[in-house]
Amino acid sequence: MWVSSAIRIAIVRFTSLFSADEKRSKVIFYHDIHGDRRYTHMSTPVQLFEQHIKIIRENSYEIVSEITHPIGQIEICFDDGFLGLYDNIELIKKLNIPIHLFVVSSFLGKETYMSQNQLLELNDLEQIKISSHTNNHKILSQISDEELENELKTSKGILEGITAEKIDSLCYPEGKFNNRVIEIAAALGYSKQYSSIPGSYLDAFGKNVKKRSLVQIADEKEFKAILKGGDHILAFWYKLKHFRP
Ligand SMILES: [Zn+2]
Repeated sequence: MWVSSAIRIAIVRFTSLFSADEKRSKVIFYHDIHGDRRYTHMSTPVQLFEQHIKIIRENSYEIVSEITHPIGQIEICFDDGFLGLYDNIELIKKLNIPIHLFVVSSFLGKETYMSQNQLLELNDLEQIKISSHTNNHKILSQISDEELENELKTSKGILEGITAEKIDSLCYPEGKFNNRVIEIAAALGYSKQYSSIPGSYLDAFGKNVKKRSLVQIADEKEFKAILKGGDHILAFWYKLKHFRP
């Protein structure tokens, strides 16, 4: 009941042919970027990342730290806090793009992940916004209320301690969530929650939950198709896989 990668790409590209080019605002996400040194199989080569940014700009989207308008804006997220983003920060500065970075607080300082000091350095840059990806990357829909609260509170506390800023955004580990997760997270101050269900800003999943499109391995054609909303048709499958009411 899952779509293989080749079929997925074919569906996305085919659907995009029929999508009106409305330039709907959307959130896209990656896990890391790399040049010579790669820290995770989910990482995107810097050349491909630069190509994505070029395509976004050629299509006249504005890259923003947080979407505020239904049309013409792209928000770029990075999940987990891998070291490649830190290694390649000069590229991010050169491209002059805002990045929304979701950090797993207990991973800070572990091999292949950023340290607290490195995160603090990134936080000092205007273009980097830091948010929570929980404390231990546990699947939130599969743990007890007590563990869930602990994951969310601990992470918020640690990240607010490092950044001295209010942490009000959360992204779900493995994209998995349910109504209980949405409610408890909202009650703990996470007014913005990010899923991994593809879709546009307009087409939010309930009041608190935003949709996001994974683009980390998309080649030029697939990336253009995703920008046009070609992956929205897959929201049905992602919802089946990620959301249990
Ligand atoms: Zn993650």
